[in-house]
Amino acid sequence: MADCFDKATRSRIMRAIKSRNTTPERRLLEEMQRLDIDALRLSGKGLPGTPDFVVGLLCIFVHGCFWHLCRRHYKAPASAGWRRKMDANRRRDIRVRRKLRALGWRTMVVWEHERPDVAASRVQRRLERMRRGRRIRRH
Ligand SMILES: [Zn+2]
Repeated sequence: MADCFDKATRSRIMRAIKSRNTTPERRLLEEMQRLDIDALRLSGKGLPGTPDFVVGLLCIFVHGCFWHLCRRHYKAPASAGWRRKMDANRRRDIRVRRKLRALGWRTMVVWEHERPDVAASRVQRRLERMRRGRRIRRH
């Protein structure tokens, strides 16, 4: 079948699609779907910090190692201005999680460096603990 785009345009489109499909968020979503976790992508929109996924009462953030100062991979930039900016990021992340908890949400961070299948089973265990916690409190 003839392509309606020329070669250069087609390869630009395909590159764009590929990069969209391989984001950590996308891969986590696929793995959660494989485990039948009913994650909603857009329902975090009105919440503090705009969580990437919401599952029941659990807000999930997929964090990039640099922007969110991953303990394993973050290296503080040399410039003082950048370090200030990054400290502000760290404080904002803490503030957002506190706000969500105050509103009755639970929060969880999945790191960019985590294997998506491992992260998805971490989400599953967390949801299971939340369900057990509720049962225990009810008695
Ligand atoms: Zn990392």
